[in-house]
Amino acid sequence: MSGDQSFGVITDSDAVIETALSEAHAPALMMAMIQITGDTSLMDGDIRPKASLFGDGEGDLSREERARVRQMALDALAAYRDGGCKLPAAPDAATLQKMVDFMIGEAVPADYVPLLQEELGISGFDSRDVKIDQPAGSHNKDNYKVVIVGAGMSGLLMAIRLKNAGIPFVIIEKNPQTGGTWYENTYPGCRVDNPNHLYSYSFEPNHDWPLHFSTHDVLFDYFNRCADKYGIREHIRFNTELVEARYLEDDAQWQISVRDIDGVEDVLEADAFISAVGQLNRPKMPDLPGIDSFEGPSFHSARWDHDVDLAGKRVAVIGSGASAAQFVPEIAPDCGSLTVFQRTPPWISETPHYHDAVSDNIKWLLHNVPYYDKWYRFWLFWMTSEGLLPMVKVDPEWSSNDDSVSATHEMIQNMTKDYIASQVGDDPELLRLATPHYPMGGKRNLRDNGAWLGALKRDNVSVTDNTITEITPKGLRTEDGVEHEFDVIVYGTGFTASKFLAPMRIIGKDGVDLRNHWGDNPRAYLGMTVPGFPNFFCLYGPNTNIVVNGSIIFFSECEVRYVARCIKLLVEKGLSAMDCREDVHDSFNEEIDAANEQMAWGLPGFSSWYKNAEGRVTQNWPHSLLEYWARTREPSEADFILN
Ligand code: NAP
Repeated sequence: MSGDQSFGVITDSDAVIETALSEAHAPALMMAMIQITGDTSLMDGDIRPKASLFGDGEGDLSREERARVRQMALDALAAYRDGGCKLPAAPDAATLQKMVDFMIGEAVPADYVPLLQEELGISGFDSRDVKIDQPAGSHNKDNYKVVIVGAGMSGLLMAIRLKNAGIPFVIIEKNPQTGGTWYENTYPGCRVDNPNHLYSYSFEPNHDWPLHFSTHDVLFDYFNRCADKYGIREHIRFNTELVEARYLEDDAQWQISVRDIDGVEDVLEADAFISAVGQLNRPKMPDLPGIDSFEGPSFHSARWDHDVDLAGKRVAVIGSGASAAQFVPEIAPDCGSLTVFQRTPPWISETPHYHDAVSDNIKWLLHNVPYYDKWYRFWLFWMTSEGLLPMVKVDPEWSSNDDSVSATHEMIQNMTKDYIASQVGDDPELLRLATPHYPMGGKRNLRDNGAWLGALKRDNVSVTDNTITEITPKGLRTEDGVEHEFDVIVYGTGFTASKFLAPMRIIGKDGVDLRNHWGDNPRAYLGMTVPGFPNFFCLYGPNTNIVVNGSIIFFSECEVRYVARCIKLLVEKGLSAMDCREDVHDSFNEEIDAANEQMAWGLPGFSSWYKNAEGRVTQNWPHSLLEYWARTREPSEADFILN
């Protein structure tokens, strides 16, 4: 992890630069060149990246065009080096707009420019960091107390921002380590499915990611090192679970009862209480009779039992979601036999470089070429995130008999079906089982470089959509009455996502228990605040999950800025409480529900962890990342009852 936001000082020879440039991402390189030279005439030339979400991932430039870009870059970088590595003034907003339109190959809405300025660090400071001044009068920010639950990606981020703002805080963490999901999920093949150069804190870029999509141990390491670098570890109470958080209205304080691994209880007080427990941390076991009767080893993917040797064993895998798709290809070669019990086939995003290493040349470019890393990150942001959202939006005029929601959506579904067919080859039964029959975007797409379907084609692997009716001592029984014997059962059955914040007991004003209040229908304003629960903030709360568009870290950064700014408001104005207005909360949720109904994941006819039992989408954000970024830059005082 570099943690280094300073710009490259190039001392290497032309030969070294030339070698590195041979692997440069041409559109990102062109943008970096404009910033290094201050010469915008490159955008008036004949080499122009094309808008191509499904192209070569590099603006569909020809070999000859890419070679010319590299030659121009070599000249520019040599001149930059020989001139003492001095950068011209940053481009103004109009130039940036032109640059982003040029790089993406089409007009990008002007609203993206402020976001881009922030991503590029144009202002020279981290505008997501929040400064909190000492309040006037007798208050002192050093006496303010915040309790955060969870030391995963979001909790650490919140802590880093509060630490920089000089606000005292404690983190309660149930695990013995930081890292959250990257500590808990150690199953074979576990890796991030978002490009790593996007899946990292904006202020803590890692130019040394070993893989484009790194494995869980590398991510665990990254978050651990962030905890150390920013001095967060000493604020964490590990092996400690929150038992109950209760709002004491007269004191405007949260009283937080915790219990450690030895059963020792303690009570903390907090002016503000922040949940950062994530959505996908409580394994969901299927509701099947006999589940405890199985005599062999069985475990959930998020509680992988590494002591169980699968070599030569008959293994049943239940589920075919994102987790199963990662571990099945890894374990299949070892197993004697492996049977996947699939209920719904997943859609797939073809990603040929999914398992590829990041080369030394790319690392050199990220480290040394000023702004190259930022523009590459923005490219990923657009191509793997924001640009995809319109494709899963329902076109009300569109009608079809193939689950598609728009003409573009139909085209992508057909392309994906072709990809699946090409992978499966001549096996009509596997093709039937591998072909999804619900709208793409209805559930999380799997990233695949051929590993998933390749595994299903192995001689020792079979897939069935035979419904499981019970778990038996020797294996499981399916609806046709047949008992299938296995040595090991692995549950890839997901998480109790809609039970937000469970099993924590959170009691707000008038003794209202948040879990009872929510029931199966959790709602919050901007996913973060709930009326009747003053000074309580939820990170990755209701309706803040993203399906196709992007890195959840981007979302967390928006949330953390918003919460830090709420705390700034409380502290600097000497307020005791901020409570979200009921009407603001309700109209926000009406709007979100209506928008979710217009997205592929909001359609009826199939279930997913995004929906509750009534089919309401409780998890997802239906708009763009830009929209969430814009709405969370600053809390509006009018949205709250302030005391
Ligand atoms: P999931 O997406 O909820 O998948 C659970 C799977 O179990 C589904 O295929 C489900 O079928 C199946 N299932 C449940 N009960 C079953 C039963 N009784 N019989 C047969 N099949 C059954 O869970 P997940 O795979 O753990 O992924 C959850 C989320 O975690 C993902 O959507 C993603 O956001 C995240 N994740 C990310 C990564 C990553 O690459 N970074 C990796 C893993 C997970 P139905 O579809 O029919 O319900």
